[in-house]
Amino acid sequence: MITRMSSLFLRTLREDPADAEVPSHKLLVRAGYVRRVAPGGYSWLPLGLRVLRNVEQIVREEMDAIGAQEIQFPALLPKEPYEATNRWTEYGPNLFRLKDRKNADFLLAPTHEEMFTLMVKGEYSSYKDYPVTLYQIQNKFRDEARPRAGILRGREFLMKDSYSFDLTDEGLSESYRAHRDAYIKIFDRLGLDYVIVAATSGAMGGSASEEFLAVAETGEDTFVRSSESGFAANVEAVVTPAPPAQSVEDKPAAVVHDTPDTPTIASLVDVVNKLDLGRTFTAADTLKNVLVKTRLPGAKDWEFLGIGLPGDREVDEKRLEAALEPAEVVLLTETDFRNNPHLVKGYIGPKALLANGVKYLVDPRVVTGTAWVTGADQDGKHVVDLVCGRDFTPDGTIDVAEVRAGDPSPDGKGVLEAARGIEIGHIFQLGRKYADAFKLDALGADSKPVRITMGSYGVGVSRLVAVLAEQNFDERGLVWPRNVAPYDVHLVVAGKDETLLAGGEKLAAELHEQGLNVVLDDRKASPGVKFADAELVGVPTILVVGRGLANGVVEIKDRRTGDREEIPVETAVEHLVKVVRG
Ligand code: ATP
Ligand code: MG
Repeated sequence: MITRMSSLFLRTLREDPADAEVPSHKLLVRAGYVRRVAPGGYSWLPLGLRVLRNVEQIVREEMDAIGAQEIQFPALLPKEPYEATNRWTEYGPNLFRLKDRKNADFLLAPTHEEMFTLMVKGEYSSYKDYPVTLYQIQNKFRDEARPRAGILRGREFLMKDSYSFDLTDEGLSESYRAHRDAYIKIFDRLGLDYVIVAATSGAMGGSASEEFLAVAETGEDTFVRSSESGFAANVEAVVTPAPPAQSVEDKPAAVVHDTPDTPTIASLVDVVNKLDLGRTFTAADTLKNVLVKTRLPGAKDWEFLGIGLPGDREVDEKRLEAALEPAEVVLLTETDFRNNPHLVKGYIGPKALLANGVKYLVDPRVVTGTAWVTGADQDGKHVVDLVCGRDFTPDGTIDVAEVRAGDPSPDGKGVLEAARGIEIGHIFQLGRKYADAFKLDALGADSKPVRITMGSYGVGVSRLVAVLAEQNFDERGLVWPRNVAPYDVHLVVAGKDETLLAGGEKLAAELHEQGLNVVLDDRKASPGVKFADAELVGVPTILVVGRGLANGVVEIKDRRTGDREEIPVETAVEHLVKVVRG
């Protein structure tokens, strides 16, 4: 197919859209790939749709390659299945709910676990039918709190979602592994720079869930990676290595000191250093005790929990929530402190906590033999050299301190550095949650029912277009990887001379004959305008038919490297076929 710029439904823009902050959003709008309709709602124009379809096709091929079968559900769904799993309520404000003319409740599906489970239940009954993996590539709807960055976080977006159904846990592991491998193939084929991170520290059983994050400064997800190894993890999943325990014998005795007006760690360090104890203390020598209360689902009462951590670190809220899941967790209120006078705010130490039955967990760095400056449980007093394992024995450890760049990597290789990413895929071992909700059983060989176990796996197909743009651009515009580019060759006729246009048309036709997709800039615009548009649009190879044609040469330009090469017009087609096909 030859597309002519003179009739292509495309208007490029000189200016960045006012609401755009990230490069992909600016460029996809400026280059005429997408247009905004509503917050988080975008239309695809011809160029954008071609890229989207190319990405979709790569995803489809790799899904088919692991034996997943494509089906398609409606996005408009009845409420009942989602009520059965409680997601009608649990999804909260993110779910688009609507009513039909008979006042029946409907929703626009944010994801389809319920429907796939019911579908399999409806069709399959025997153990011989399993395993099976089904998928669809379909628009999803989520009323995101912050639709952002164009198609990066939409309220309607294209997702590939697949679901595996297995008879056994081993089967589920295999399906999960197959998806993981397929995702690696997809993202490798797309040439993305990405990492695979454990979504949680493994409390739920190892690799029950992993996320694929594309590395991008503009990403909303923070992760850490080792400077020296391939280690990468969500901050929630980082396990702090514990230093070796030390002897308690050679430590000085604990001494209580007056430390008035030291409500903060900085003020405490200052005052302790003025005591002239023959040592210099830093915030890392202090033991900060943070009090929270937790409540398990269904429980009536809150339970207090004391968390001891080095004073140079804060508690990371996400790590705290992940560590205590499924319990809720909140900070103590003023009333809590008033009702519990043994908790002397600003001066809380391990001793009062332990003496009053408050569960006390410490950071993994607080090992036996470490000596701390910490609260003495009296207003205006701290204790120096309170030794873990000698003066107090915590109830256990809790790994919730913030993770910082420069911390040792949990795999022992190198130090951690912080990076940002965009979630492009998520693989998840669901287990029997949905099968239980809908009683999805297979009749086993012994005629006894076997409860099916499931996995769910998502790829953000439309988001990937933005992610690809985010990782492939320069100051002049987009630079598509070849296998997703809207065209193979962008042919610029640089001049108004009829013979140039005729030469361009001829080359375009010959390239087309060789099976290449060509966009031909046959407009009457100036060469400058055409070159600028070609660079903005980002087709990887630009073929320029200009003045040189009179001498039998045309110019080939590599959009990524900027390299130009003059070649004889007779060999141009052959040459370009090689460039495109690699
Ligand atoms: P996020 O944390 O970015 O909101 P999620 O955890 O809600 O993602 P999943 O429910 O696992 O995502 O959905 C599967 C995939 O769909 C994600 O990995 C992501 O690539 C994509 N996706 C999710 N929400 C959106 C959205 N609002 N716009 C575009 N793509 C999305
Ligand atoms: Mg989300």
